[in-house]
Amino acid sequence: MFAEFDLEMPNSLDEAVLALARSDGIETLTLAGGSSLMVDIRARRVVPERLISLARINELRRIEILGPRITIGSRTTVSDILRSNQVAEHGAALAASAEVFAGQMVRNVATVAGNIACGSPAADLVPPLLSLDADVVLTNASGFRTVPLADYFTGFKQDVRRPDELITAISWDVPGAKCANRFYKLARRKGDAITVTGVAVTLGAANGVCTKARVALGAVAPIVMRARAAEAMLEGSTLTVELIEEASLKAAEECQPIDDIRASADYRRHAVHMLTRRLVAGAWADLHLATEVS
Ligand SMILES: Cc1cc2nc3c(=O)[nH]c(=O)nc-3n(C[C@H](O)[C@H](O)[C@H](O)COP(=O)(O)OP(=O)(O)OC[C@H]3O[C@@H](n4cnc5c(N)ncnc54)[C@H](O)[C@@H]3O)c2cc1C
Repeated sequence: MFAEFDLEMPNSLDEAVLALARSDGIETLTLAGGSSLMVDIRARRVVPERLISLARINELRRIEILGPRITIGSRTTVSDILRSNQVAEHGAALAASAEVFAGQMVRNVATVAGNIACGSPAADLVPPLLSLDADVVLTNASGFRTVPLADYFTGFKQDVRRPDELITAISWDVPGAKCANRFYKLARRKGDAITVTGVAVTLGAANGVCTKARVALGAVAPIVMRARAAEAMLEGSTLTVELIEEASLKAAEECQPIDDIRASADYRRHAVHMLTRRLVAGAWADLHLATEVS
């Protein structure tokens, strides 16, 4: 059974951040879709005295393109992402991760901010967002600040968010035509399964040279991580089969997987090697196709 807690339902973002600011030493948590938090409360892994629900704050549930940026409100659900043509066009890896996220019922409530804030290295929306160089907007009663997602996590389930801050939005630059973005989730099943290894790749190209490479790895380190040495090998070069193989091996070297109930560390390293190779080769092929078409 649940321990008792007070539930507050603010009607606006202003009310929500003021409610968070009034915590006065009371253990207060934010409630979004509840698909992670309510499981933790039921298992008594967390015992909050007060929950601030975001359920009535519609301004946090949106996907919009403003100038060169695409912005997703923090209460946007996985189902909203799946329905969005804008995400399909400008964040293909994020759309791909939403397709293999949980089952339909969880997708209908699970939010993008909840996925980031729960801090799991296996959180499926995070590798795609990391590969897109996304920023996280954190808001409290005094204002807001923007933190690159790459700097958001500081350790296993640790992040830079202060207790009085809400994640209010996630945004990234609309990628140009010469940019390809892919994701693959390796798990026991296609849906409703915790990720064994998740890889997201973004490549940019100009004149046959890889101008940008992002390789984001999920479930193979205490936090979702970038394989920066592998990225550096790809950037500035014309990608060949040999170079892609070398960079994929480097990504496998860089990750720090553990043995657990779902897979051994060795298997996860092998998966990083194979998936990085497959996704980089696929993204590079996408870019060539785009060049031929344009
Ligand atoms: C059956 C099942 C299947 C699942 N499958 C997957 C899966 O395939 N892939 C995957 O990645 N996850 C999966 N999950 C985990 C969970 O659904 C996701 O992490 C989800 O995105 C959490 O979002 P939520 O809105 O439900 O967050 P909540 O449960 O409401 O909150 C999670 C945490 O985030 C904090 N939080 C929420 N919103 C904010 C905010 N705006 N600002 C600051 N902090 C905030 C809360 O305080 C809490 O600590 C699954 C869970 C279940 C129960």
